[in-house]
Amino acid sequence: MTAPSRTTLTVQAMHAIDQITGAVIPPIHPATTYARGADNQLIGDQDYRRPEGPTEKQAAKVLAMLEGAPEAKLFSSGMAAIAAVVESVPTGGHVIAQTEMYYGAKLLLQRAATKKRITLNLIAPGDLHALTAAARPDTDLIWIESPANPSWAVVDIAKTADIAHAVGATLGVDSTCAPPCTTQALALGADIVMHSATKYLNGHSDVLAGVLATREVNARWQEIGEIHSKTGAVPGAFETWLLMRGLRTLWVRFERQSASALMIADALQGQAGLDAVLYPGLPGHPGHDIATRQMTNGFGGMLSLRLSGGHDAAARLAASTKLFTQATSLGGVESLIEHRKPIEGPDSPTPNDLVRLSVGLEDPQDLLADLRHALAAGPKAV
Ligand SMILES: *Cc1c(COP(=O)(O)O)cnc(C)c1O
Repeated sequence: MTAPSRTTLTVQAMHAIDQITGAVIPPIHPATTYARGADNQLIGDQDYRRPEGPTEKQAAKVLAMLEGAPEAKLFSSGMAAIAAVVESVPTGGHVIAQTEMYYGAKLLLQRAATKKRITLNLIAPGDLHALTAAARPDTDLIWIESPANPSWAVVDIAKTADIAHAVGATLGVDSTCAPPCTTQALALGADIVMHSATKYLNGHSDVLAGVLATREVNARWQEIGEIHSKTGAVPGAFETWLLMRGLRTLWVRFERQSASALMIADALQGQAGLDAVLYPGLPGHPGHDIATRQMTNGFGGMLSLRLSGGHDAAARLAASTKLFTQATSLGGVESLIEHRKPIEGPDSPTPNDLVRLSVGLEDPQDLLADLRHALAAGPKAV
């Protein structure tokens, strides 16, 4: 028999059958400390929960398998995972990131630059000429996000990896919106891949967690391991167990969310009141060709709409839907809508007229009808 696919291994949490009871569901191990025998030797292979206990080890194994990585590490949030990567940059090290990216990560990098911990250049997502011009022999880290919040600009990971490696820099990819069932960033040449597991990996809007996975166990990964262990930004056993429960349905959730988002994006093109529908799965999206190569199992559930009526129309749409809940975050089973600019603040480059949608698992025809109704509701709907 051929080796089981990643889908099968994910659904079965890699055959995590409890060897003691035979339970088909992986157990939760909440213990923070582990006993030693009369000889002062540990009874098992575990001594303390930080940085990871058996539940976290099992989840990290499934995530490493999904990414094709030798190792993965779980963090208490996506931001904690990014913070560990930023901390691994040597003092004064040069970092290149994107003008448009998850705003919390950009603020973290800008904070490190303001404090002169790092030097920072921001370039437009996917602008390989600007990246080549900005990359220097002392560039330590290139940090990209694809598709990038909230225009869903697609960044060519393989070409970016070539540019990074030509100057000896590490390429880190925030692949939160392209989970490993559709994009394996490490196979495309990334050195480190990061996810906010709060989003698609868990998929139920009830766990905060982050993941890093590496292409090679090298000095940088060991440094990140030290930071992980010594700063202790690790998830609890219950959260990790919930994450593993969510993860088991990742493939089927993502497939359905991608199909629904594509249907909705396609149906809304040319709709009155909309200037643009931004979705990498649409042939007219500027990143569509790269996305087709790089997102091999669906373009995801995230799309954005630009309203002809500007700020007010965007605010009104987000306030008028009945099935899309007005809330931040993404990747859960329930659909969400957000007028993005006010959330990111006045310094954000996100246009005022943009509304971000996270398509969930509801009937896509209901979701489309909800959006059409809210768009047609006009000025009195707020
Ligand atoms: C949510 C998110 C993060 C931050 O993750 P948390 O789990 O909220 O800390 C980082 N990057 C992207 C693209 C995200 O959507």
